[in-house]
Amino acid sequence: MGLKDCEGQPRVARSLLSALQRGRLAHAYLLAGPVGSGKRRVATELARAALCERPSAESDACGGCEACRAVGDGRHPDVEFFRPPDDKAAYPVKQVREQIKRHAYLRPALGKRRMLVIERAEALVKGSGGQNESADTLLKLLEEPPRDTVIVLLAAHPERLPETVRSRCQYIRFEPPSTLALAEALMESDRLDPDQAAYASRLSGGDLALAREFVRGRKKDSPNLGLVREALLDIVRFVGTMTVPGILAVAAKLDGAARGWPALVGALGILALLYRDSAVKAAARHQGGSSSTVSVETALAFRTGPEASATSDAARDYGPDTLLEMASRVLRAQEDCGRYPARLLLLEVLLLDLAGLPRHPREVAQ
Ligand SMILES: [Zn+2]
Repeated sequence: MGLKDCEGQPRVARSLLSALQRGRLAHAYLLAGPVGSGKRRVATELARAALCERPSAESDACGGCEACRAVGDGRHPDVEFFRPPDDKAAYPVKQVREQIKRHAYLRPALGKRRMLVIERAEALVKGSGGQNESADTLLKLLEEPPRDTVIVLLAAHPERLPETVRSRCQYIRFEPPSTLALAEALMESDRLDPDQAAYASRLSGGDLALAREFVRGRKKDSPNLGLVREALLDIVRFVGTMTVPGILAVAAKLDGAARGWPALVGALGILALLYRDSAVKAAARHQGGSSSTVSVETALAFRTGPEASATSDAARDYGPDTLLEMASRVLRAQEDCGRYPARLLLLEVLLLDLAGLPRHPREVAQ
């Protein structure tokens, strides 16, 4: 245990360890990253390292001293986590004033500093706009930072916080969790099989909360993962040879399976990846090199399964430039999601557009 063990966020861990080592911990941090990227874990390890009685040469926590164990068990008097009450979307002003602010100015009980972790910091801002007393109270706290307290804000949506709050924190951006890490979390929490878990995590674009919504939601509102997958494979394999009614039917199939913008955005992200994989394969075919097979494999998002065979098919039917153009058109359509009035229309236009691109280019290899 320690900051150095926060896998997936090595850059974050390094920068915090370096600050500890130089004795230059900031008064306030804003850890920003999607749900599931490990913000809470890093905050806990930061508290542990900051309060450890026998830190390592790199200033990381020893993991064994009384302070380290107390932080891990959530019973260290100088470490406090705050979150809005379960039934509230936002932090009540009272909680910010009477708990967070009051606790920030307490003297450390055991160690040399106190650590205050504010989870879901974006919930300091009320959705309706207007007066944001909670955020204002926190801002005052950040403007006159207590000497021995480090305030750590965790936010999946830092853009919702006022600029005045953000600018007073050291901003640390987390990488989205890898598809694999997310799939493992889903397999554990929702007992999904590896295939389903991998698909749900890809469809969520790296957002664990959204992936959970996809697999836990009511049947009639959540995406049908199996059908989304089928429709995407059909598109990659056959869109260039389909008749117009066939194209409209597969558009309707994907729209019906996605059941909403969030999954459709994710599905288009997967489709772009599939075209990109196809382009990588087509480029390798074009070069006719078997020597590069290994590096090509490692560059692919989908190395096995029906996706891998669909991208091989597409790599035979199209040239690499056309496939990259397809990926880029899919990404442009993805950007339009939500801005466009109708999901189905957006899909139909995109697929007809893809179908019109030239197949069997002159540069067919071998
Ligand atoms: Zn320790």
